[in-house]
Amino acid sequence: MSKVTLGKTGITVDKNGFGALPIQRVTFDEAKKLLRKAYEGGITFFDTARSYTDSEEKIGYSLSDVRSHLYLASKTPAKNAEGFWKDLETGLKLMKTDYIDLYQFHNPDFCPKPGDGTGLYEAALEAKKQGKIRFIGITNHRLHVAKEAIISGLYDTLQFPFCYLATEKDLEIVNLCKEREIGFIAMKALSGGLITNARAAAAFLGQYDHVLPIWGVQRECELDEFLQFVKEPPVMDEEIAALIAKEKQELSGNFCRGCGYCLPCPAQIEIPMSARMSLLLRRMPSAPYLAEEWQAKMERIENCIHCNHCSDHCPYGLDTPALLRENLEDYRTFLK
Ligand code: SF4
Ligand code: SF4
Repeated sequence: MSKVTLGKTGITVDKNGFGALPIQRVTFDEAKKLLRKAYEGGITFFDTARSYTDSEEKIGYSLSDVRSHLYLASKTPAKNAEGFWKDLETGLKLMKTDYIDLYQFHNPDFCPKPGDGTGLYEAALEAKKQGKIRFIGITNHRLHVAKEAIISGLYDTLQFPFCYLATEKDLEIVNLCKEREIGFIAMKALSGGLITNARAAAAFLGQYDHVLPIWGVQRECELDEFLQFVKEPPVMDEEIAALIAKEKQELSGNFCRGCGYCLPCPAQIEIPMSARMSLLLRRMPSAPYLAEEWQAKMERIENCIHCNHCSDHCPYGLDTPALLRENLEDYRTFLK
């Protein structure tokens, strides 16, 4: 069984964290069934966020009686100390706990530091002093913020997208965390649904002994697969290496990761799906995307007012309006 220790925190868990974003989409009782099964299957690291609507509440609802056997991680998107305290107190109440093991700044576009005028880092330190959080982390999609956070020495963990489509620059971040003994939590190990071979994804991450993947779980069959990976970790063999090489070729360059940081769109375009429709059509069963509902959604791209809100907020520096246009044209051709 493979275990991971997060940097210097002493948090050692199965190489299998539960990403609690997708449980927003199921009922409280369905969420409880999944969370209990995960816990009973050996998962002890649960990662949620104040921004994931009722996810913190579902964790409290499902796991409060076994709280002392778990590590809970959550996040705040607060921009100032007041927002930080409000989010932290809400999270504690909803998760029915008096401490959160790892509290993370949720994808800020800068690296919070003491004295930066936001009061965020000072608030986190005070929360730690009061015993309301045990460790301070940061999540990010931006290479420069991630690097600054590592070098600052202020953070116990970094949560960053990492999957087998990673670039050399992403790998540099992963390796730097190892060198500096900062816990590395891998998000988007399935690249927002574009990677459909979870076995290959797990075999890739298995090569990095300091990396803790958190898998977004919505269905029981997905959970079963991830639990199996801990019992029998997939290993990188020639077949998986060849598959990854082929996928890297197909998905190279600037593709949309479906992260949603470009929203909201004033033209109501569902950017995270629409900007990667060409890939979804070819990599997933295409029928649902070709139904009338999706045809109408794709046609909304025509209503783009070129405000550039999306491209200004895309952490991958994509020219989102152009990418949407390309996807619409391809979609129309595909439909024919
Ligand atoms: S540029 Fe177009 S797609 Fe992007 S946010 Fe504005 S309206 Fe929406
Ligand atoms: S366009 Fe950029 S910000 Fe929007 S979903 Fe895709 S990758 Fe994320």
